[in-house]
Amino acid sequence: MDCCQHDRKTMSPLPFEKVIYFDFYDGPLAGYAMCSVCHQCFHFRVLKWDTHIFCRVFGFVPIEMDFDRVDKDIEQWTKNTVHILEERRKTDNDDLPIPKQTDYVNQIELIASRLEFSHICVTGSYLDKGYWRKMDESDKDVEDWFEHLGVVYDFGNLTFHLDKSHSS
Ligand SMILES: [Zn+2]
Repeated sequence: MDCCQHDRKTMSPLPFEKVIYFDFYDGPLAGYAMCSVCHQCFHFRVLKWDTHIFCRVFGFVPIEMDFDRVDKDIEQWTKNTVHILEERRKTDNDDLPIPKQTDYVNQIELIASRLEFSHICVTGSYLDKGYWRKMDESDKDVEDWFEHLGVVYDFGNLTFHLDKSHSS
């Protein structure tokens, strides 16, 4: 499970083009991403977010999975779920069951939930831009990830800057 970008010790641009967002609250909370260079898959989950400045910190960890299969399964599940929610609204029947996720996706979720993060990432709401690096000793028992990673707020533009001199 080696990614070509694995040993970045300083904050580097994210190498992900293919991303599956899984869980949402004002933006993604978790998902899967594939390195666009070597195709290693990663699981990610949010560690801190602030919707006022559209900044999120995610933990990343490599995971062995069939990315396209998970992508297809989740897309189908989302379609089915939207359909059921519409039916519920139309028929006023809240008993219509929400579709179950496939066994394969459940299996990957279970594996992912047991992994410890190896990388830390700071980005806007989505992974189209952002930075990451390998976690190190300084990342143990962090109370405020924004402060720890050198996130500088820019409330005028509702965004953030990364003080990269702050990171290892
Ligand atoms: Zn890679």
